[in-house]
Amino acid sequence: MKIKAPAGMEDLLPGRLAHWRKVEDKVRRVMATYGYGEIRTPMLEATSLFVRSVGEATDIVEKEMYTFGHANAPEDSVTLRPELTAPIVRACLEHSLFAKRPFHKLFYLGAAFRRERPQKGRLRQFHQFGVEALGSHSPVLDAETIELAVAVLEALGLREHTVRLNSTGCATCRNSFRVVLRERLTPDLERVCEDCRSRFERNVFRVLDCKRDSCRPVIQRLPSIQEHLCADCRGHHAVVTATLGEHGIPFTPDPLLVRGLDYYTRTVYELTYPTLGAQNAIGGGGRYDNLVAEFGGPPTGAVGFAMGIERVMLALDAQAGGRDANEDHITPVAVYLCTVEDALRAPAFAFARRVRQAGIPCDLDFEGKSLKAQMRNADRLRARWVVMFGPEEWSRGAAKLKSMQEKSEETLPLDAIVARIQAADTGSTARTP
Ligand code: AMP
Repeated sequence: MKIKAPAGMEDLLPGRLAHWRKVEDKVRRVMATYGYGEIRTPMLEATSLFVRSVGEATDIVEKEMYTFGHANAPEDSVTLRPELTAPIVRACLEHSLFAKRPFHKLFYLGAAFRRERPQKGRLRQFHQFGVEALGSHSPVLDAETIELAVAVLEALGLREHTVRLNSTGCATCRNSFRVVLRERLTPDLERVCEDCRSRFERNVFRVLDCKRDSCRPVIQRLPSIQEHLCADCRGHHAVVTATLGEHGIPFTPDPLLVRGLDYYTRTVYELTYPTLGAQNAIGGGGRYDNLVAEFGGPPTGAVGFAMGIERVMLALDAQAGGRDANEDHITPVAVYLCTVEDALRAPAFAFARRVRQAGIPCDLDFEGKSLKAQMRNADRLRARWVVMFGPEEWSRGAAKLKSMQEKSEETLPLDAIVARIQAADTGSTARTP
């Protein structure tokens, strides 16, 4: 029986990973320009962290978490993180960051896990990068996170995104909206799915998030929270939209937009990308002003977003006209060592260490291949230099250094070869293919 990777979990081979690394490097560069510092938290967290933050009546907590624990000790139950906001809030509190400074800008890159039905763009282990700006209620910061999300996509060369924006209000607006929603839904309860009927009882806002086609007609007729925002929330939202407008960041108001996690307050947004197909959300975020206090911290305004790296990669593939079929990656070297006879393999192996210690990527053959095959390998690895170990040169403590670009060669003492390569190279490690 062949053992395969678990459903919805992908291997990243070196060729594909080379593309990922470029994306990650660009993400890190843009994050730094907005003043965000990187944070890493464990893959596993206490289950209660997600139940209390993401929300008990959400799809994530109800159906999608990978939870491990002991039936007799529920307090030991741990869950593979389905998202990273709650872990970061937990880490901020655990390390008393708010006692040190009231405001923190943090970004992350890492894996998240949800037991969803796998399909294109929807995995069970996926990767997100995102930001959390903690310690401010300013609506301008909401706009800045949206600007940053757009800036990252644009730095990656993805320009066809749409930003959908809404406000989900605060506890005050929601209390009155909850009553209205329940009133309006009551006559239609027979027409919505079983999940929605249960949501109606447990957390009626989650009904708005139901993706079932059969529920959409009912949901679309429901009133919008926009009509029930309190004056403060209306004012906050007005500044967000005005700031985006002033900075020329296009967005589409979407009064029906709710996000699948309960901790959001006020601003919520989602970025979609047209080439992604059914799973067209590339990122999403919003404000979560109650989460820090919920975990025992001081009242702390906070806002952030997360983007799916696999979906970014899919959008980039589509833009490039399909996934690179030639992803069978080679790791290029600067120097390849060839031996003319077997007796010289040991000294060549010793010399490789010297080259590598000088920081120069170098490789050689381990399979006793012919000189011709060794040269083919040098070419495949795009070596700019070949050091040829022959008996005659070796007897004089020397070897031949061939420049593959110049098509020239010279015999040099072994001690001089590394310095000669360093002097000639201008820093790039790969020969242009
Ligand atoms: P969410 O936390 O659900 O708002 O997700 C934020 C982003 O993560 C989404 O816009 C997607 O790009 C990505 N994402 C969420 N769930 C998955 C998944 N199951 N597979 C791949 N990407 C996902």
